[in-house]
Amino acid sequence: MEKINNLKKKIVEATSIGVASHIDPDGDNLGSICALKKSLEIFGKEVFLYIDDQIPRSYQFLPGVDESSEIETNRHHDLFFALDCADQERLGKRVGDLFDRAKTKVVIDHHLTNQGYGDLNFIEIVSSTGELLYEILKQADLPIDEKVATCLYTAISSDTGSFKYDSTSSRTHEIAADLLSHQIDLNEITINLYQRRSLAKTNLLMRAMQNLKILEDGKIALTRISLDDLDKVQAEHSDTDGIVEFIRDIDGVELAIFLKDSKRSGSKISMRSKGDIDASKIAVKFGGGGHKRAAGASFNGDLDQCQEAILKVVNDEINAGNSFN
Ligand code: 5GP
Ligand code: MN
Repeated sequence: MEKINNLKKKIVEATSIGVASHIDPDGDNLGSICALKKSLEIFGKEVFLYIDDQIPRSYQFLPGVDESSEIETNRHHDLFFALDCADQERLGKRVGDLFDRAKTKVVIDHHLTNQGYGDLNFIEIVSSTGELLYEILKQADLPIDEKVATCLYTAISSDTGSFKYDSTSSRTHEIAADLLSHQIDLNEITINLYQRRSLAKTNLLMRAMQNLKILEDGKIALTRISLDDLDKVQAEHSDTDGIVEFIRDIDGVELAIFLKDSKRSGSKISMRSKGDIDASKIAVKFGGGGHKRAAGASFNGDLDQCQEAILKVVNDEINAGNSFN
């Protein structure tokens, strides 16, 4: 409670607060930063929201997500929040510089691999940053209205695969129940998150299926999408979301691996596990991180090199009789 009181004091004293997304922002990240921004604004604070990347279409409905500020390299904040961001590099260079210059840096995250790079670190292994943020807002007696509740519900729903993953606890459901009592539009959230796949995205999914490889007696599924694939079906980068879960859901698959050309340079690895395999342990070998059932990393090399490297790690582990856990 002392940590919460300290945070509340810093919020009360701050005249300028920054809240930032990480690069490649997802639903938990965007939902959490928008929830915190709205809550602090209702509390009477001036908040600068930083999203230095494209906002996936599914999350463009979030209240406040369209109110982000230009990154001004000479701006100093009294308080700066990094949410759902396992390491500072994930903030990106420009936002990372703003974070470095802030008087007090706050990290709120649910990733096991987070080392706590802030002055105040709230790191709990719960379903989502949205769940953790809800607890913090309640304990700090910060407001939750319909908009804040919409953002938090989106964060929790998206990071739990709509309350399916085993990170979903009875507490997660209690929180969801409370958020629903704020008259949020559940149908709007459901349609935006789960029922608006574009035709381009559907075509991209078909391309990913053409690239699908099933290995190790059906336990490993791997597929990949190149920039050329994106071009051919006129899909966006964020349209690759969902591909790794789709191949994870094949019966018998324990580890799903999805590779794509990165937006910047090199490749990006995404993994999902539904058996004993701890995907984060593989990700860490590539300098990445995440959780047991969802992890990722960047790879400095093209897709062929990336595929070779990750299959080598997976093979070595299997040959060592190690199921990664
Ligand atoms: P996704 O596959 O959806 O991009 O990410 C799944 C999980 O892995 C997320 O919880 C995310 O935080 C983590 N993750 C993905 N990419 C990276 C990365 O490059 N570095 C770290 N540390 N974690 C990552
Ligand atoms: Mn998350």
